[in-house]
Amino acid sequence: ARAGAATAPEDETRRAEAVAEGFRALYGRDPEGVWAAPGRVNLIGEYTDFNDGFVMPLALPHTAVAAVARREDGVLRVHSADLPSPVTELRVDELTPGCDTSWAAYPAGVVYALRTAGHAVGGADLHLASTVPTGAGLSSSAALEVVTALALNDLYDLGLGRAELARLAQRAENEFVGVPCGVMDQMAAACCTEGHALHLDTRDLSLRQVPLAPADDGLALLVVDTRVQHALGDGAYAERRAGCEEGARRLGVSHLRDVPHAELPAALERLADAGEHVVRYVRHIVTDNHRVGEVIDLLDAGDVRAVGPVLTEGHHSLRDDLRVSCAELDLVVESALAAGALGARMTGGGFGGSAVVLTEADAAERTGDAIRAAFAAAGHPEPRIFPALPSAGARRLS
Ligand code: ADP
Ligand code: MG
Repeated sequence: ARAGAATAPEDETRRAEAVAEGFRALYGRDPEGVWAAPGRVNLIGEYTDFNDGFVMPLALPHTAVAAVARREDGVLRVHSADLPSPVTELRVDELTPGCDTSWAAYPAGVVYALRTAGHAVGGADLHLASTVPTGAGLSSSAALEVVTALALNDLYDLGLGRAELARLAQRAENEFVGVPCGVMDQMAAACCTEGHALHLDTRDLSLRQVPLAPADDGLALLVVDTRVQHALGDGAYAERRAGCEEGARRLGVSHLRDVPHAELPAALERLADAGEHVVRYVRHIVTDNHRVGEVIDLLDAGDVRAVGPVLTEGHHSLRDDLRVSCAELDLVVESALAAGALGARMTGGGFGGSAVVLTEADAAERTGDAIRAAFAAAGHPEPRIFPALPSAGARRLS
């Protein structure tokens, strides 16, 4: 396979067959099809999506795979091979936010969002299995939502586009699951393509596929999953969101995306009466939005190595201004840089979860060893480290 090719096709076929077989064992009939949607890692542009800003995620080879068939009776049954819980059964015309608080709220929320938007979706049987690590900041939740949305779009012949499906999947998570996330994760799962990062404008969902094949440049992009998740995360996310909204209000813009980077010093001066935290949040959002543009320019110029320091700057901004990092994420960045990595940053919501590291390919193993050694010395659990191979977005497998 060429450098950058992610999932071996035979591997994907085998997983599709296993999930279809699980479906048959569970529901006593054949699925109508099998679909996949990936997890993602965000290269740059963090917390910018709910500020109408820019992000740059890439899809991982890790996917949620779902076997699905329609039902005539308005019943939705969902099951996950990865959990001990039994089949969840719900009536599609009785779906309301809060009616199910288990993992089933992710696929059920998609049915709810589709129906609320007026799309003619009836019942279904769904069985899934996922290789996306959960709660690791790699968006296992959006993979579940998007695989469900794509399957129902195909089976019920809704004719919705990828961006529309992503918006509805976001709505499922916002309204039905109750997580106030932006649209990045769902867009990444729905729209990424193999060998590319997705340059996404979260204001109008316009996007560009940016070629990214680190191996072709003698580089490696690593994901380091710290395997810790600090409880703070949920409340902190809402607090950052509120602080950003206050900043925008005080600056007289609808979203912080509308504050040009060149006008940042003047904008910060105008925030003299606001809380100190608002100043920091605004500085993070405006500079990180700018960093997305810097990374795009460097990739377009073929100067991939120079992306490293921009990632590290982004980490410092998340650590010092937005304050969403944690000891484990800081240690990944510090130990990777000490081992000679070109750059590193936390990715996703923070307070645990994962980081990305850009390194020379021939130093990747040494860098991984250095990170593991630093974690062992600090008494942290051993991190999980794997290459971030830019992979395909959601698709039908069979
Ligand atoms: P992230 O999206 O970063 O992985 P979230 O907290 O947003 O973290 O989503 C994780 C949740 O998604 C899990 O707690 C679970 O409810 C659901 N989930 C993810 N993968 C699976 C799976 N394979 N089977 C069942 N539920 C899953
Ligand atoms: Mg999630």
